[in-house]
Amino acid sequence: MRRWRNWAGSVEARPAALLRPTSVTALQDIVRSASGNQRIRMAGSGHSFTPIVPSNDIMLLPHDFANGDSASAVGIDTQRMVARVPAGMVLHQLNEYLAASGVALANMGDITAQTVAGSISTSTHGTGLGFTGLAGQVQGFGLVTADGEHLDCDATENAEVFQLGRVGLGCLGILTYVDMTIVPAFQLRAVEQARRLSDVLDNFDTIVTEADHFEFYWIPHTKWALTKHNTRTQEPPAPRSAWNKWWGKTVMENYAFGAVCMAGRVVPAAIPRLATALPSQGRQEFTEASHEVFATRRLVKFHEMEYSIPREHLVSALRQIVEMVEREKLRISFPVEVRVTGSDDVPLSTSYGRESAYIAVHMYKGMEYERYFRLVEAILAPMQGRPHWGKIHFQGAKTLQPSYNRFGDFLALRERLDPERRFVNEYVGRVLGL
Ligand SMILES: Cc1cc2nc3c(=O)[nH]c(=O)nc-3n(C[C@H](O)[C@H](O)[C@H](O)COP(=O)(O)OP(=O)(O)OC[C@H]3O[C@@H](n4cnc5c(N)ncnc54)[C@H](O)[C@@H]3O)c2cc1C
Repeated sequence: MRRWRNWAGSVEARPAALLRPTSVTALQDIVRSASGNQRIRMAGSGHSFTPIVPSNDIMLLPHDFANGDSASAVGIDTQRMVARVPAGMVLHQLNEYLAASGVALANMGDITAQTVAGSISTSTHGTGLGFTGLAGQVQGFGLVTADGEHLDCDATENAEVFQLGRVGLGCLGILTYVDMTIVPAFQLRAVEQARRLSDVLDNFDTIVTEADHFEFYWIPHTKWALTKHNTRTQEPPAPRSAWNKWWGKTVMENYAFGAVCMAGRVVPAAIPRLATALPSQGRQEFTEASHEVFATRRLVKFHEMEYSIPREHLVSALRQIVEMVEREKLRISFPVEVRVTGSDDVPLSTSYGRESAYIAVHMYKGMEYERYFRLVEAILAPMQGRPHWGKIHFQGAKTLQPSYNRFGDFLALRERLDPERRFVNEYVGRVLGL
């Protein structure tokens, strides 16, 4: 069946052709033989909430092209500390290959189900002021362009395509490989505990400046935040027991949390009372391989919007959201997530040219999210807010352009590489104003 769906089940497509290319040559043939105004879009793992992936004409799936069934698919250069990765490889598989060679990615988001190409294309990020998102860790890539050429791009060869194309929304061409910066493998010492929200906000600047990786989740309708504080270390691992990990990450964070969300969907008025059950999970401390700590499993389905704002606005922004949720009598069962990253030089990155704080709001699947998300957007967008390209938002090119001072350069490059708009879909048209 030619049906494609995203992870959340909120975006669906039935393209005329759903293909699984196996090589660069096959990709080039597909691009060269596309005719008229047929649009081509390459999917990653479908973990974007926005309709950034689909095309009604030709959709490409990464599974056979990822070449991910052999470790030799990843070329690890420990002299230059770069790994050449098939663009469609899923992050958790990449992490395993890197770990087997004693290296790792420096930072990543909170799941590893995404492909490398998909992650960088939407500016996927984790947390830590001393680090960038994944696109900032890219040193080069291969790209099949609309005329079927394959370009190698890095800081010296096709440098403009490299500069602008690291966050490319899938509309400059099809990424074939990505050169990722690697670092020696390391452990993270994790401390996870509930803290008073007021305590976290009063000390936010000190905490994020001193921590390697800090994030917290405010639990709406409570005065509590669940905090995760990860410190990079070469200490030997002191892992959680398998039982402890399963209980905490699978049962409590997924099944028990999912049950609370489901109850809240049936009886929204009960959500504030249900929320008080969440902060009491105690304190956990453990030391494990970095990729085991950065990422967790997400079995509960939801809708999400996330904004990047200049880091200094975080405390004020979050206080406004807390106040708004109560004033508007919203009923929110999902925590509000806060992270930070350092500045990077990737023109369409949500952290381009500034240290950023990220606020992510979620709504359990099946519950109405638009009013909540629009109210939050109304607080964050005027603070030079930049929405995550892969998460729900209500902006178009007119309001996005002023946030990115190289927006015009990106448009010019896209026009030069793909004048017939072979790689443009409806969402890309909306956010770029095409
Ligand atoms: C449960 C969950 C947790 C998440 N956690 C985080 C997080 O911690 N931090 C964060 O920032 N985001 C997070 N996200 C968002 C997610 O990281 C992004 O939406 C990411 O883009 C998804 O990657 P993907 O492989 O699924 O790509 P898709 O969503 O399938 O595609 C994204 C874009 O990449 C393009 N693309 C894919 N492959 C190629 C290719 N080979 N060449 C050119 N373009 C290509 C697509 O065309 C599309 O434009 C999360 C999403 C979910 C569902």
